[in-house]
Amino acid sequence: MFIRRLLAAALLAVAPFFAACDPDTRAASGASPAAAAPAGAPATDPAPADLVPDADGKVRLTDAEWRARLDPEAYRILRGSGTERPFSCPLWKITDEPGRYHCAGCGLALFDSAAKFDSGTGWPSFTRPLADDRVLERPDHSHGMVRVETLCARCDGHLGHVFPDGPPPTGQRYCINGVALRFRPASSP
Ligand SMILES: [Zn+2]
Repeated sequence: MFIRRLLAAALLAVAPFFAACDPDTRAASGASPAAAAPAGAPATDPAPADLVPDADGKVRLTDAEWRARLDPEAYRILRGSGTERPFSCPLWKITDEPGRYHCAGCGLALFDSAAKFDSGTGWPSFTRPLADDRVLERPDHSHGMVRVETLCARCDGHLGHVFPDGPPPTGQRYCINGVALRFRPASSP
């Protein structure tokens, strides 16, 4: 009985985290309204609707609006330049399913699965963004290091960093928090 209670507690501790960084897991768990859709109905993306940018291509929300839109972990990373624990979000894994990785904040498509590779770091890693204008880069001198921060070009959400130690063809390693991304399979509408 005690062990069963421990297991239940462990599951409860893990479940919200996976839900925050992998909408597919959330749908499969039955916690999403999508799971209640009648058989044969098209699957719906449990992620919030994509945000429509202003004329200059930027999305601007107040801090209160971001807090309301994002779960606490996504808010901590995207709006607070946080970092998730390595291997904690399953999006680091390489799968055969083609698709794109979108910003979990605004919905902008950022990376293609064809550019993804297993860096061994426990974070989703890519050799290049979907296009040069999708990801912004700026110097980051925090934590006593000199790094290059990556941000979503539409909502300025913090994604992670880029390092010059990636594989061919670019030699770049875009090291991205899984919580900052939402995967949409190529087969989805
Ligand atoms: Zn964004």
